[in-house]
Amino acid sequence: MRCAGFTGKAQYPITMLAWGSTMLMNPDDQISPAMAELVVDGKPVYKVDARPSQALVVHCGDPRFQSAFRLFITRELGFQNYTPLIIGGGVHAFGAQSFLPKNFKTLWGQIKFFVKVGQVKQVVIINHEDCLWYKKMQGYEAKLKLPVLGRQDLQTAARTILRDFTGVQVRSFWAALEGDNISFTEVPPA
Ligand SMILES: [Zn+2]
Repeated sequence: MRCAGFTGKAQYPITMLAWGSTMLMNPDDQISPAMAELVVDGKPVYKVDARPSQALVVHCGDPRFQSAFRLFITRELGFQNYTPLIIGGGVHAFGAQSFLPKNFKTLWGQIKFFVKVGQVKQVVIINHEDCLWYKKMQGYEAKLKLPVLGRQDLQTAARTILRDFTGVQVRSFWAALEGDNISFTEVPPA
């Protein structure tokens, strides 16, 4: 599914399915041996993946982006097993802390939990273009355009995570739409 775009960067086709519909994925792209389906006593069963988590990855639940997120994380970043934290608007709540304090409390609590319990040393945060959650947050930094705001929130989130966890590396990415494709750009710390 991955193909080289004209910019020379990896691009991933957007999943053109309506919200709420089932994701259709190419099994060759998604199934690792650890995920292989077996049949035991006539019933499908699925293997526990006992490999340690290499990273906590926070991103939005927009179904158009899930295939691209997974391919980017497993192939480009090379994580064989990771902890996905999927929440509408990705890390929006770090920037919108005073605007949506409950969202921040929930997201921050989840991140702290998975970093501590999973003992992950790397956190990857991704925000994306055309995020419907951001569009829904009317009144939140209305003067800033979404790509600016989304990147700014990534930087705020990275700062907060780094401040609380020593020895944890944070990488931030902006997922941009280019026609029917999605490409990822690393966002440097502020
Ligand atoms: Zn979104």
